[in-house]
Formats: sequence, structure tokens, C-alpha cells
Amino acid sequence: MSDSFLQVTNLKKYFAVREGLFSSVKSFVHAVDGVSFEIEKGKTLGLVGESGSGKTTVGRVLLGLLEATSGEVYFEGIKVFELKRKALRSLRKRMQIIFQDPYGSLNPRMTVGGMLGEVLSIHHLVRKNERRERIAELLYLVGLQPEHMNRYPHEFSGGQRQRIGIARALAVEPELIIADEPVSALDVSIQAQILNLLQDLQEKLKLTYLFIAHDLSVVKHISDEVAVMYLGKIVERAGCRELFSHPLHPYTQALLSAVPIPDPRRRKEHLMLRGDITSPIHLPRGCRFHNRCPQVMDRCKKEEPRLQKQGNNHTTACHLYQGNQMQTTDKRL
Ligand code: SF4
Repeated sequence: MSDSFLQVTNLKKYFAVREGLFSSVKSFVHAVDGVSFEIEKGKTLGLVGESGSGKTTVGRVLLGLLEATSGEVYFEGIKVFELKRKALRSLRKRMQIIFQDPYGSLNPRMTVGGMLGEVLSIHHLVRKNERRERIAELLYLVGLQPEHMNRYPHEFSGGQRQRIGIARALAVEPELIIADEPVSALDVSIQAQILNLLQDLQEKLKLTYLFIAHDLSVVKHISDEVAVMYLGKIVERAGCRELFSHPLHPYTQALLSAVPIPDPRRRKEHLMLRGDITSPIHLPRGCRFHNRCPQVMDRCKKEEPRLQKQGNNHTTACHLYQGNQMQTTDKRL
């Protein structure tokens, strides 16, 4: 075990598939299938992949919203899955989530002040007579005004609602924030404002982020490291600059080729991905990406590539960069 702030080791989350409510388990959805990573305190790991890659499930398992099938999570060296209920509850306060859809996650019948006050009261964070002051402070922290505490969610724009979602997450003074597609429901101009806000807050409050997104361009400016997920596994991981300048895995290359470049004089080839992501129930043999990969080889259909170091803190799981050692497909449930 390293002394990382957050360490995730061989995390798996399988969902049982039944044909009827009382029938036996027919198969499993391999949503997260052996994911390992660590994040240093105050840093950001961008976790990227298409819908169905398992990235959101990773976040939900870390927060305890879903139970892991197997694996380990260490939070400042503490084995999270071994904690008793009380200790787990107090640890969970140190981890908060920011959702993709701020409107859906805010109670439409409560004022912003009411919502933030409820969080402060449930967790006994400030005395009743200090609550208004703390709410005003939280609103100010996310770029809103104290008078906004008397308004309802529908009276705000999408960007402002996401600021409220961030204020609510910050109310319990967390150390780790799992930001699950926090800007994908927003206009591009607003996205930049929210990303800047998250960066400012990270600096000010020494926050650690797991930033989940389907779009590589979104994680580029906020991440120290980026991990790319495909069908429940991390297929490439590197420092942000390294990943964007030297993407190795064909899947990362395809995702990157879809990122628009603001300069029209710099053109690049758009690598189209064939078909959709494969079903996580019936996983293909060998490399999980082989039916969509433009560089597929015979070997890719038989052997599952292992995540291997390619130097400079850069790892990838692809036979294009590996020797001839045999790697059998993981045993599954
Ligand atoms: Fe493509 Fe083969 Fe690499 Fe998989 S292992 S990404 S199929 S080249």
C-alpha cells in the first residue's frame, strides 16, 4: 500500500442480471472490472471514457452508494471497506459528490438557504445562530451572493445551479470531491467558468478531485493525471500533458482526435470509432476494444493485453507496445 491520499486497488463491481424478480442470476454486467489508481492529496485525476465504460460506477462505489464486488479502497491509509458503520459515516463526510444534473439533485421546493442549512444542521457543523452567516460564506465561495439564499432552484441559470451544487458539497468541508460530469449539461461558455471555479476552490481549500467526464477536452485543463476507461478497465494512464501529447492506446487516440482544435490552420485526422461500446455482459475474448480498433491484430482477439508501464509514468494496455508474453483473459464471475 502506498501513502497516497486515495488508493484504489483491483476494484470490481459486477451487477447480477436476472430474467425475473425471483429467478436465479443469469449473468453479470462487468461495470468495473479490476480498476486500480491512486490520487495524491490536492491533485486531480481525470477519469475519462464513453458512456458504459464504468467511470461513474467507480465514483459511486468510492462514495459507498454502491457496494463493491471486490477490491480495496484506502483513504489516507484507512481500509474503507473494513470500517464499521459509524466510522464509515464520518469518513463519508470527507468525500462529496458533484452531480452532472444540478437541477435534478436540488430540491425544487426548498430555497437555497434551506438546502444548505439542512446540510449544516444534519451534520451539526455550526450553531443555529451562525447558520445564515455560514450559508452566505458558502455562496460567496462559489461566486453567488448572500441574497441568493432566499431563492428557489428554478430561479437560477444552469451554471448558477451547478454553483449551488458545489456549495452544498463544500458545506461539510470535504477533502475529496468526486465530480461526475459536472459541466457536461452546461453551455460551453459556462463550462469554462465552472472549471475555473473548481480550480480556484481546489487551490483555496486544498481539495483532491476525481473528475469524471466523457470528454477529454474537459479534463485537460483541470487534471494532473488522466486515466482512460473502456468497458470496465483502465486502458491508459499518464500525466495530463504526456497523455495529450503522446497518446498510445488506439482508443485514447480516437477520443483525442474528436477534441476540436481552436486554430483552423491546424487540421487533424478524425479517427472514427466503429460501432458502439460492446455489451459489458458479453465481454469479447482478448482485447475488449478489438472489434472497434483500427489497428487490431490476430493476437488481440485471443489475448487480453495487460496494463504495462511505457516509461515516464505512462501505462497502457495494448499489444502494440507489448512483447510476446501470454496473458489470459481474466477469470470472471
Ligand atoms: Fe487495438 Fe490490439 Fe491494442 Fe486492443 S490490443 S487496442 S485491439 S491494437
